[in-house]
Amino acid sequence: MAIETTLVLVKPDGVQRGLSGEIIRRLEQTGLKLVGLKLMQVSRELAGKHYGEHEGKPFYNGLVDYITASPVVALALEGPNAISITRKMMGVTKPAEAAPGTIRGDFGVDIGRNLIHGSANESDAKREVSLFFSSDELLRWDRTNEGWITE
Ligand code: UDP
Ligand code: MG
Repeated sequence: MAIETTLVLVKPDGVQRGLSGEIIRRLEQTGLKLVGLKLMQVSRELAGKHYGEHEGKPFYNGLVDYITASPVVALALEGPNAISITRKMMGVTKPAEAAPGTIRGDFGVDIGRNLIHGSANESDAKREVSLFFSSDELLRWDRTNEGWITE
């Protein structure tokens, strides 16, 4: 069982709409463990590093404008299969195609306002967690009920 740490962002639309708590609640109650959490303003420089793979695509400038427009909530979530569990809870990129019960399916209508980011794979997760959190902002704490969450 691979223990992973993944980066989640409640994007500016999620914070503006008062959905940060709802989104954190859904992810936290899976049993994934919060090891980092903060409200922050994403600079254009950080946005460029984070979304470098999309540079040059038609939606890129709008994406950087969006993610830097107002604060995001950044979370680092740890646990077995943290990356795929988070992606499943988010739903697919287009809210119109995201399943009911997913965050994007339940709260979104437009691909350009899809509420949440979650790392796509292990190498992205490592890179993105360290882009958004310094090592002293990541707390590796023991959960007293761990045995009721993982075998
Ligand atoms: N995006 C967009 N228009 C598109 C494709 C992507 O606005 O046609 C934005 C959207 O916010 C998406 C982000 O760019 O979440 C990153 O795109 P990606 O394909 O990596 O989707 P994700 O991994 O977030 O599901
Ligand atoms: Mg992606």
